[in-house]
Amino acid sequence: MTNNVSTRLAVLGSGPAGYTAAIYAARAGLSPIIIQGIQPGGQLTTTTDVENYPGFRDVIQGPWLMEEMQAQAEHVGTKTIWDHVVEVDFTRRPFRMTGDGGAQYFADALVIATGAQAKYLGLPSEEHMKGRGVSACATCDGFFYRGKRVAVIGGGNTAVEEALYMTNHSHDVTLIHRRDALRAEKILQDRLFANPHIKVIWDSEVAEFVAGGEPEALVGLDVKNRRTGEVARVPVEGAFVAIGHKPATELFAGKLDLDEDGYIKVEPGTTKTNVPGVFACGDVMDKIYRQAVTAAGSGCMAALEAEKYLAAQEYEALAAE
Ligand code: NAP
Repeated sequence: MTNNVSTRLAVLGSGPAGYTAAIYAARAGLSPIIIQGIQPGGQLTTTTDVENYPGFRDVIQGPWLMEEMQAQAEHVGTKTIWDHVVEVDFTRRPFRMTGDGGAQYFADALVIATGAQAKYLGLPSEEHMKGRGVSACATCDGFFYRGKRVAVIGGGNTAVEEALYMTNHSHDVTLIHRRDALRAEKILQDRLFANPHIKVIWDSEVAEFVAGGEPEALVGLDVKNRRTGEVARVPVEGAFVAIGHKPATELFAGKLDLDEDGYIKVEPGTTKTNVPGVFACGDVMDKIYRQAVTAAGSGCMAALEAEKYLAAQEYEALAAE
């Protein structure tokens, strides 16, 4: 049996952006629903230690933080729905969304907070070493590698920024790129090449993430030169894979304006999409900051903007009567 649900505001996605939007919307009396999606809690549920979310002096755990956000959202009046939306219809009002079990959700306004996923190289040894030296976020995890040798993999803006950021913690940073030229903006490249603590290995790819020690941790990378085929061991304790992110926007292709990388386009300085009443926040619209706290901040913005939108709709409906 499938249930249909009607609500003034629906939130899609349950990371920091989604829960923050739900908390603000619930406290504004909108009785929102949050449809959790395939990975309830979002990217933070696959992170362990979190040291940069304000308000906690001690290290906290990502999954715990997300449980707390969910509990707070529910406490103030959010209804959590464990479902995954597979279809959206923005051509009609209220907007209609269909869950993968066939349930239909009708909402006067919608906040999209479906997030993004970091891309990985796809090696079994990389998967095995995630959380044991392999990460996709230097800003999040770089602090744990103070004074250690680290590598960053990739040649775009993110990789170069992460390599530069890591020099705050380490004087032995290696950037590994598969080609002989970076994709990153020139100004970032100039900073990278001027930094004495960064060396670049060109035309090379990581063939293996090498584990060692007890408890098991990353001890190095086997790096293969794509021109010569030669493989060399690069000793590092931390490796940051920075080869791009994939925003979760397949559902919205052709229905919302997306940029060339698939991120939802919003009006600058707002969370407004090109469809009035549909708002986007967090990593699904942010390819630059990608932090839990910036996602939460934009979730707050989305809820405030949705609330304003709904109030204006109501006013117009009353005026028309
Ligand atoms: P990106 O620009 O797509 O760059 C990805 C890099 O990873 C490329 O150098 C690519 O190599 C490499 N790569 C991709 N797949 C790979 C694989 N399987 N193995 C090895 N290397 C691989 O991604 P991004 O750096 O995350 O940036 C995404 C978007 O966000 C861009 O539009 C960027 O400008 C923007 N951004 C902006 C800022 C900023 O303005 N401060 C900061 C971060 C990101 P190739 O070069 O050979 O393709």
